[in-house]
Amino acid sequence: MDEQLPVSSSSQSNPSWSRDELILALDLYLRHRDALPSKHHQEVQELSVFLGKMGRALGITTAASFRNPNGVYMKLGNFRRWDPEYTKDGKSGLAKGNKDEEVVWNEFASSPAKLASLVSVIRNTVNLGEQLGSQLRQLDEPDIHEAAEGKVVTRLHRARERSRKLVENKKKQALAKYGKLACEACGFDFKATYGSAGEGLIDVHHIRPLHSLEPGQKTRLDDLALLCANCHRVVHASRHWLSLDELRTTMDLPVISPSG
Ligand SMILES: [Zn+2]
Ligand SMILES: [Zn+2]
Repeated sequence: MDEQLPVSSSSQSNPSWSRDELILALDLYLRHRDALPSKHHQEVQELSVFLGKMGRALGITTAASFRNPNGVYMKLGNFRRWDPEYTKDGKSGLAKGNKDEEVVWNEFASSPAKLASLVSVIRNTVNLGEQLGSQLRQLDEPDIHEAAEGKVVTRLHRARERSRKLVENKKKQALAKYGKLACEACGFDFKATYGSAGEGLIDVHHIRPLHSLEPGQKTRLDDLALLCANCHRVVHASRHWLSLDELRTTMDLPVISPSG
């Protein structure tokens, strides 16, 4: 569960590939599955430049050249060995790589629509970097496990949950409708338990699937759910962020119908 710490200054300047980077490389791989492009190919060069831009936007690197075209080319080779289309003839691909390649392959290679929309969110978000200000540079939070979809959408998600105005409007809406602020997963009501000390306390969680986030798009109150601090913590506690129904299942509570 612990992230590997860089062991030397050279590995610091060249950390292992992040989820986001692997997702973008997988997308390039799948579009050239039959014949991998060389390091001189325009799309390999483009991805190399883009990964540098993303690394700087996230505050991961300050290097002008972060992932060179050869590194991108090698990464495509690393995906080879997880590709059944390729290995069925007894070929094996490049053995050395990052353990996450297999995981990313398993999570996204057979869901092209989800992969395409996730790639577009990541790219659009990074391209909007300047407009998003410091949102992408937020430090990773101890209780929030980076989502399977990567750092860019993790930070986008958290930025939306922290929007003061949206949080206040969501609370106002719930108070007007139900007369209380109760957790939508477990029903916990801070005020009922803690009295006036718990007044107004509740977390706001953004429920849209990460691959469908649109950078720059307005968040609707319906995209938000009220969760108690415990439930919210559990939702984000592992790489696979739980849906509210999955959360309720872990608590042996009946799942909520989609219309709810
Ligand atoms: Zn709860
Ligand atoms: Zn959340």
